[in-house]
Amino acid sequence: MVPYHLSLDYNLHPGWMTPFVEGLQAGLAVARRCAACAQTAFPPQRICACGEADGAWITLTGDAIITFRTEGADGAFALVVFAGADTSAVVRLTGLASDQTRGTLHASDTGLTLGPFPKAPL
Ligand SMILES: [Zn+2]
Repeated sequence: MVPYHLSLDYNLHPGWMTPFVEGLQAGLAVARRCAACAQTAFPPQRICACGEADGAWITLTGDAIITFRTEGADGAFALVVFAGADTSAVVRLTGLASDQTRGTLHASDTGLTLGPFPKAPL
């Protein structure tokens, strides 16, 4: 085996997840509420655990409670539950002290980022 570094630049169209992706870029937690059972998923799920595909987009406060936290060479990450969501999410932590257990969503182009209150100016 010969190691070879491969670099790719590409853009993925968010498709049905457009409201979620645009929300992240604006610092908004846009979740999906199932039309059948009302489960609220953040990040959104295309098909709910109950099997339903229809749902509505709702905007959560963006506040979250950290349930598990880890730190490594690439930074700090956590499993969190956003207020109003019935699901958990993995987020990158930024600017939160190791003893802080709550944070709020910050605008990001690279994924879910949880930081301190109040939100940084956009
Ligand atoms: Zn459902």
